[in-house]
Amino acid sequence: LRHLVLVLGDQLNSDASAFDGFDPTQDAVWMAEVQEESTHVWSSKPRTVMFLAAMRHFALALRRLGRPLHYRWLDDPDNQGSLAGELRAAIARLQPQRLIMTAPGDWRVLQALRAVAAEADLPLELRDDRHFFSTVREFAAHAQSRGSLRLEYFYRELRQKHGVLMEPDGRRPLGGQWNFDAENREAFGAAGPGFLPARSQFPPDALTREVIALVQRQLPDHPGQLDSFAWPVTREQALQALGEFLSERLPLFGRYQDAMWPEEPWLYHSHLAAALNLKLLNPREVVAAAEAEYRAGRAPLACVEGFIRQILGWREYVRGVYWTQMPGYLEHNSLQAKQDLPAWYWTGETEMVCLSAALRQTLDHGYAHHIQRLMVTGLFSLLYGVAPAQIHAWYLAVYVDAVEWVELPNTLGMSQFIDGGLLASKPYIASGKYIQRMSSGSYCRRCPYDPAERLGERACPFTTLYWDFLIRHEALLAANPRMVMQVRNATRLSAEERTAIQQQAAALRQPKPRAGTP
Ligand code: FAD
Ligand code: SF4
Repeated sequence: LRHLVLVLGDQLNSDASAFDGFDPTQDAVWMAEVQEESTHVWSSKPRTVMFLAAMRHFALALRRLGRPLHYRWLDDPDNQGSLAGELRAAIARLQPQRLIMTAPGDWRVLQALRAVAAEADLPLELRDDRHFFSTVREFAAHAQSRGSLRLEYFYRELRQKHGVLMEPDGRRPLGGQWNFDAENREAFGAAGPGFLPARSQFPPDALTREVIALVQRQLPDHPGQLDSFAWPVTREQALQALGEFLSERLPLFGRYQDAMWPEEPWLYHSHLAAALNLKLLNPREVVAAAEAEYRAGRAPLACVEGFIRQILGWREYVRGVYWTQMPGYLEHNSLQAKQDLPAWYWTGETEMVCLSAALRQTLDHGYAHHIQRLMVTGLFSLLYGVAPAQIHAWYLAVYVDAVEWVELPNTLGMSQFIDGGLLASKPYIASGKYIQRMSSGSYCRRCPYDPAERLGERACPFTTLYWDFLIRHEALLAANPRMVMQVRNATRLSAEERTAIQQQAAALRQPKPRAGTP
């Protein structure tokens, strides 16, 4: 065998750079389903099914293209259980002269595969991932030239370079502004969202049903459930989901991007992150299609810019942060957070209605939208002080779109502020009143707690912990110009009230005894 082309579960694109020069008469493709990828974090059932179903459908597509494929099934009796073990076995069997792959998304996986190649004394050729608009080298050069990391400037640079939402001169943004956030981000109001377009659904076919049965059998204790699994697992399905998003949800995407409502997990979001991250969709086609909706007069500029900013901006930016900061990123803990993750993150069993809703929907579907991740589950963890490694492992486990290069910077940088301001200029903190506002009171009305109260039995835990956070981190926050107002409010509290807040917060951090224990 001349070349063995390695394809990972998040590299399901037949035009990837790894296939350049592929010759089916001398080369072959290697793919492996392994237990370790579902157990290094306690991967939810929806997430594992998403990956394995998409991999098996992609394997069929490769066979149709006539590319010889060596594919290892999860339940093969001699499956080695890890990517490294499987690759080692494949090298011994196939004796390739060279390994080729598109640069992987995960630092951990790259180290493991490199070690196997070195041990076998084989060259491992890593090719740039053309899926992305930018390379990590471009990001590093940008960061160096600016001396600090900020999304806004990187995003503007990419818009100019790729001519996205630009005036014909290629320098000025369409509409005269780079950012339309001020026009976006409304709540639904007391009457609620009213009619909502349906989520795109792809009922599992025979192949996916086999995977569902396999995961139920092999990983029975893993979190999450599979009754409603309907994610796109092929490129054709992903393109259909994109089309439905563009016509039905994009025109209101920006406006309701941050809104929340009980029992409405899908709202006006695209639900395309998993399809993008597994490379079933290319971000260029998604961005171009969204821009075309604006140019055809079918979607307002503010909505389209808000959407494109997430993909051309945030998605590229966090990838650059990940690859320029790993592995050291995991060692930060600027807020010295060390609490255990509450066990109910894995069940949704909490009296806090907003949290319970976000957690249950996460476990049911492997999905929650950005504001639920950042300002409900993430905010609670930040205020509570969960140890970074534990909250990182949770986010990496539960979402169908979770891959480390995008999950880790979002969780540890944006949501938990463990890097002290490298990725985001300030911690995203708020009291329960923020959740009340963005859900138009819909959660809080059903909750035993009151978001306006910081002390006493009815105090909303978010609100108590928010004030406690300001008190605990006063020195660090006071040095941040964007936090001055919030810190000043905390310094105005009386000494008695500050002590009472800290005592109530400490009590919240005590694990509650289980019913029935003495
Ligand atoms: P939409 O709201 O429709 O947004 C459109 C697309 O933009 C998404 O599909 C996604 O590809 C991209 N995008 C949006 N926000 C971000 C962002 N902050 N960073 C990178 N890309 C973004 N996203 C993941 O893809 N995988 C993760 O594991 C992940 N973990 C997260 C953990 C935390 C704590 C937070 C706060 C955010 C995380 N995100 C993650 C980012 C974002 O929340 C999800 O991409 C989004 O909610 C997915 O839903 P959607 O496809 O409906 O997105
Ligand atoms: Fe969430 Fe607090 Fe509102 Fe309850 S009162 S739903 S915990 S924000």
